[in-house]
Amino acid sequence: MVGIFSRDEINIPEQIFFPLFSLQHRGQESCGLAYRKKGRLVAYKDLGMVSTVLGRYLSESRPSRIGIGHVRYCNQGGNRIENAQPILVNCNKGEIALAHNGSISNTGELKAELFEEGSIFHSTTDAELLLHLLSRSREKDFFSALTATLRRIQGAFSLVMIWNETLIGIRDSLGFRPLNYGTQNGRTVFASETCALDIMQIQDYRAVEPGEMIVAGPEGVRSIRFADAGRKSQCVFELIYFARPDSRVFDESVHLARKRMGAALARMDREAGLEGDLVLPVPDSGNSAALGYAEEAGLPFDLGLTRNHYTGRSFIMPSNNQRELTVRMKIHPVRDSIAGKRVILVDDSLVRGTTSRILVKLVKEAGAREVHLRLSSPEIRWPCFFGIDIPTRQELISNRMDPREIARHIGADSVGFLGMDGLRSCLPRPRDYCYACFDGDYPCPVPFKGESA
Ligand code: SF4
Repeated sequence: MVGIFSRDEINIPEQIFFPLFSLQHRGQESCGLAYRKKGRLVAYKDLGMVSTVLGRYLSESRPSRIGIGHVRYCNQGGNRIENAQPILVNCNKGEIALAHNGSISNTGELKAELFEEGSIFHSTTDAELLLHLLSRSREKDFFSALTATLRRIQGAFSLVMIWNETLIGIRDSLGFRPLNYGTQNGRTVFASETCALDIMQIQDYRAVEPGEMIVAGPEGVRSIRFADAGRKSQCVFELIYFARPDSRVFDESVHLARKRMGAALARMDREAGLEGDLVLPVPDSGNSAALGYAEEAGLPFDLGLTRNHYTGRSFIMPSNNQRELTVRMKIHPVRDSIAGKRVILVDDSLVRGTTSRILVKLVKEAGAREVHLRLSSPEIRWPCFFGIDIPTRQELISNRMDPREIARHIGADSVGFLGMDGLRSCLPRPRDYCYACFDGDYPCPVPFKGESA
C-alpha cells in the first residue's frame, strides 16, 4: 500500500504509480488507486499488474494533494474486480477511500452480525467490512467512530485511508504487517515497505507503531494511539520470504536477516558433518540466505539456476506435466556450473513440496552428483489467519512427512530446515514476532485451529 498527502498540488496518480510498482511483489492479482480530484474522491482499479492497469496515469498531469494505492494479494476471497482496492464509499461519516493489508481474524462473527441487520456486501474483502462497521458506528465524531471500529476488529490490519481532505495510516496493535511513514518537502507518505519510500527518495521515515494511527492533513501531522502497545507479533514470514530484500521491515534489513538465516543453516550442517561443493539459491527467494550459507561454510556461491523474468504469473496447471513445464519455463539450470558437484540448494520455505521436487530434478538432470535441499525457515505446519496464503494442514508436506521422507519424496539426497531456535537466533528481538505457521501458537484468537493433521 502507498498513501501520499502533499501540502502543494502535485501529480498524485503518477506519484503513486512508481512506489506502488516497487511493491508489486506484495500482490499481483489486482491493483488500484484513489485520489481527490476537483473536490471529490475518485478511484480506478482493475485486475492485473500495476504497469498495465495504472500505466494510463503516466500520460497526463492530474493535480491533487492526496491519494492512496493498493496491490492485492489473494489470500482470501476470489480474484475478482469487486475485491480490488482501494474501496471508495460515501457514507454518513463522509467520503472515504480505504486500502487494507492483512487479514481480520474475527470477520466471520462480525459479518454474520451485519448480515443479520441487513447489510449488503459487494466483495469478500475485510476493507468493506471495516467500512460497514465505521459507517454504522453510533459515534458522531469520525475519529471516535474509527477508533471504536478498530477496537472491534482482531488480527492483521495495516490500513491507508483518505477521509475528506485527510490521509490516515493505521497499524494493528500486534503489528503483524509492516507500514512505514515518512515526510519530505511538505509531503507525508505511507508505504508497506521502505523500497517504495526509496523510490520517492524519502530518507526521513520510521515504522508506524503497532496500535498507532498517523493523521496527515491541511492542519499538519499528528499521532494517535488507538490501542495499548502490548507484545508485538510481527510476521516473521515477511523477513523470511514476503518482503523485498532491499527493504527494511520491522526495523531490520531483510537481506541481512536472510543472510543470517542462511549462515545459521550452514552452522547446523557443519555440526552434522554435511559436505558440499557448491551453494545454489532457488532464485529469487533463496538468494540472500544462500549467500549467507556460502559465506559461513566457505563454499563457492553460484547462480546455477537462472530465472526467466518474463513468464509473469505462475498459473495453476491441472496436470503434473504442465506444472513441471511451468517451472522449467521459469527456472533453468546452468549445466556447466552444476555438473559433477555436490550441490547445497537453498530456498526460503517448503509448503507442498511440488515445486521443490521439480527443482531437484532439474539440478540432477544438469549433472549434480548430490542435491541437499536446505530451507531457511522451520517446517510450516499451520495455516495463517493474518494475510499470508498458506494452504490447509493436510496440504502442508511437513504435516505428512519428516525431513527424511520429504527427501525421498522429492528426490533429494537430504532435506534440512532451520529450527525454531536457529530462526530466533537470527533476530535481534525474537520476542517481537509471530511464528504461528511454524508452531501453531497464534497470538490472538483465530477462527479455528481444529483441522486434523
Ligand atoms: S502465521 Fe506465519 S505467515 Fe501468518 S502472520 Fe504469523 S508468521 Fe506470518
